[in-house]
Amino acid sequence: MGKADSFLAHVSQTLSEIESDGLLKRERMIEGPQGARIQVNGREMINLCANNYLGLANHPEIETAARQAINDYGFGMSSVRFICGTQTLHRELENAIAAYLGKDDAILFAACFDANGGIFETLLTAEDAIISDSLNHASIIDGVRLSKAKRYRFANSDMNELEDQLKQADKDGARFKLVVTDGVFSMDGYVAKLPEICALAERYGALVMVDDCHATGHLGEKGRGTSALTGAGDGVDIITGTFGKTLGGAMGGFIAARKEIIDLLRQRARPYLFSNSLAPAVAAGSLKAVELCESGDHLREKMTKNTQKFRAKMTEAGFELLEGETPIIPVMTHDAKLAQRMASALDERGVYVAGFFFPVVPKGKARIRTQISAALGEKDVDEAVAAFIDAGQEVGLI
Ligand SMILES: *Cc1c(COP(=O)(O)O)cnc(C)c1O
Repeated sequence: MGKADSFLAHVSQTLSEIESDGLLKRERMIEGPQGARIQVNGREMINLCANNYLGLANHPEIETAARQAINDYGFGMSSVRFICGTQTLHRELENAIAAYLGKDDAILFAACFDANGGIFETLLTAEDAIISDSLNHASIIDGVRLSKAKRYRFANSDMNELEDQLKQADKDGARFKLVVTDGVFSMDGYVAKLPEICALAERYGALVMVDDCHATGHLGEKGRGTSALTGAGDGVDIITGTFGKTLGGAMGGFIAARKEIIDLLRQRARPYLFSNSLAPAVAAGSLKAVELCESGDHLREKMTKNTQKFRAKMTEAGFELLEGETPIIPVMTHDAKLAQRMASALDERGVYVAGFFFPVVPKGKARIRTQISAALGEKDVDEAVAAFIDAGQEVGLI
């Protein structure tokens, strides 16, 4: 018996439990670039589950910028930022994202997961309070856990509970309070009530942080995200986001805020200090993506048109959709098995989707979450809806 045998048996046991609970995630392999149509197992499929809202993931101008950066700046950095890992490109990208979002400055991370992982511990101490929406992204939950600040939670977008928690934090003697929310809740496609949140934050003297991963680039005026979309504007003090979704879809995260906040993060945020710089090609491609988003009204119009068309046709066909104004459109099945059957019936018909069920969403709220992209043509949307109708009739959803 090797020393690891009993441990490996335990790991196998856990894997079997995951499988028998129906929670095993299988990765299908895509044999080409990300896009509206993707190649899977030798078949072309319509893709309705990428975060590629404006279709920039394989945009030729971004690819050219990335290739040029490899020529001019090389492939890798082999350093963290403060040792020898800051190129002119990195500062250009920080300045561009700050200007785009109307903030003083910005700081880059390897991922938004790292941005959220590093921010709370750096900015807040045990004397302070973090008040967090219950549906916030896993990276916020983990980041909050890493900080010593007192934690308060309010039910998703429940403004009465938020106010109660702000009062409670004051009662508990909090020095500084930070309210944190996703800008868009990705499972439902709901937008956070930012004007209300900012008004409460103003009344109780709290800062506001918004994770706008599912909004930056494609929602609000010029794609400036949920503060632009909702009119919350300057009420939002700190924005975190990703280059891994709308903004070219490669990888990397950022925080944009007042200069003092960014300066302190540069000194203290652990994922920034102890993790490699963004690769030059990723920084240059993301920089081009910011530019394309800022001037991308035509892409946002196309995304919105596709979204409205898909919504209207699916509603007409008798599907139950969650209401909303974002390109995230959940098609409800309620039953988890039905979601799985629907996903595989759609797969057979050449439509690539993901079914979500407990524990990712509450029990009885299983769904197929579709994400609409500007990259889809009219024909793609028509074909996708036709496949949904055919599959929906087969599994008895409509
Ligand atoms: C995708 C996402 C993240 C993680 O972003 P990465 O850059 O991929 O690490 C964080 N927060 C939210 C709300 C997200 O949707």
